[in-house]
Amino acid sequence: MINTLYDALMAPHAGSQRDFLILPDGTRHSYDQIHRLSGRLANLLVAQGVTPGDRVAAQVEKSPQALALYLATVRAGAVFLPLNTAYTPAEIAYFVGDAEPALVVCDPAREGLRDDFMAPDAALLTLAADGSGSLMAEAIRHPETHSPTPREGSALAAILYTSGTTGRSKGAMLSHDNLLSNARTLADAWRFGADDVLLHALPIFHTHGLFVASNVMMLTGGAMIWLARFDADAIIRLIPQATSLMGVPTFYTRLLDRPEFNRDLTQKMRLFTSGSAPLLAETHRAFEQRTGHRILERYGMTETNMNTSNPYDGERRAGTVGFPLPGVELKITDDDGADLPQGQIGMIEVRGDNVFQGYWRMPEKTAEELAGDGWFKTGDLGLIDEDGYVVIVGRGKDMIISGGFNIYPKEVELLIDELPGVLESAVIGVPHPDLGEGVVAVVARDKGQDPDPQAIIDALADRLARFKQPRKVIVVDELPRNTMGKVQKAALRSEHAALFR
Ligand code: ATP
Ligand code: MG
Repeated sequence: MINTLYDALMAPHAGSQRDFLILPDGTRHSYDQIHRLSGRLANLLVAQGVTPGDRVAAQVEKSPQALALYLATVRAGAVFLPLNTAYTPAEIAYFVGDAEPALVVCDPAREGLRDDFMAPDAALLTLAADGSGSLMAEAIRHPETHSPTPREGSALAAILYTSGTTGRSKGAMLSHDNLLSNARTLADAWRFGADDVLLHALPIFHTHGLFVASNVMMLTGGAMIWLARFDADAIIRLIPQATSLMGVPTFYTRLLDRPEFNRDLTQKMRLFTSGSAPLLAETHRAFEQRTGHRILERYGMTETNMNTSNPYDGERRAGTVGFPLPGVELKITDDDGADLPQGQIGMIEVRGDNVFQGYWRMPEKTAEELAGDGWFKTGDLGLIDEDGYVVIVGRGKDMIISGGFNIYPKEVELLIDELPGVLESAVIGVPHPDLGEGVVAVVARDKGQDPDPQAIIDALADRLARFKQPRKVIVVDELPRNTMGKVQKAALRSEHAALFR
């Protein structure tokens, strides 16, 4: 009897003294240590009444113990449900109410607020960033050996809530096979092996840090330098010991702000990847100039794991997310779901073993987006260029319809971003009495610059059709982003909702 995911990721490392997690202070946890810890924790979960298929929710800081809790949950046949550490008790109450976990693990600092987010009789344990709290105190009483609960590939391993960029977060149900197939594909595509050392600076409540990074490393037996969060100083200090870094675009812009981040410092690195938000072509070029490395951009989402990637060998093309990964089918469709030819913009749809099982307790939403034949409407708009590279144009929900015309914000943003004094921009549509939606550009200034809104409007006048031109330009210090570097356009839309009223 097998436990599909655990048997592939961690069971083979039983007894291995190789480094698995290396902390910034030099503390090392071998594969065997974390395997044994996950055994203790799996026994504790069972003792707490967690049965196969039950959810285990965790809102905890990143730590070796937090990763072991994920592994223990899978090992015990339960379903791991990580939650963003930024969520407030009121937000946690929604997720806990929706997912009905058999056990909640939270930071000890939140324990006193338990009545705000869970039923009084539900089970709660605590885990702090340093490993203290009742989870580890209880785990010590349990043996390290635990034979994994049998779970077939189709069984759920995790429910991961989407980032909530376009609306309320949805719980994506991911099976053992969904996660394992994608880890195998990525390990292969990106050539990971036991000698790799990954600088891991991503949060582990999101698919990027938990599945893309951690699963790939466990599958291939490499080590991870385990940083609690992105910290440019720590990266600069530790990068000479690493071979690879997986990042979001803001990691790269922040590293480029540091002059000591250069070719010498990164000479042992073999791979930098970027995803979760669009990487500006300018950042891609600046990074290559500074370090000699071309960032490999890929595209994925909570529901599907990774869908496309620029090639390991061959041209990594700035402004594109590369080709569909092996085993992933990708097509571009129109509003009626019909295939569009190469070069035309439409909905990106994907199909493959990576695609999730549906949204937790949202059968209607699942039926709308995930067809019976396996094709999933991603909600992202894009095209396939003449060489087969996929280009993401934006999200369907961010498309602006003004005076009956469709406007893709990215087309306008790319022009604004090139104007003097502009760092970057977000173009949004807000309610307009005549046009339905009016085009608004929120522009982040370059440090110490003060771009003139009228000058920006004038500069676009002969470069864009009238209906695409912003009616208002608002200059700000920075665009609102979440921890994954995603620009929060929904927040901008509500902030400026009354602009044309
Ligand atoms: P919600 O679905 O709740 O609105 P979300 O879509 O931001 O939130 P995630 O699953 O974390 O939640 O993010 C997936 C999305 O991130 C993709 O659909 C896509 O829009 C964006 N994305 C990921 N990688 C890239 C990339 N390389 N370039 C552009 N966009 C990307
Ligand atoms: Mg989404």
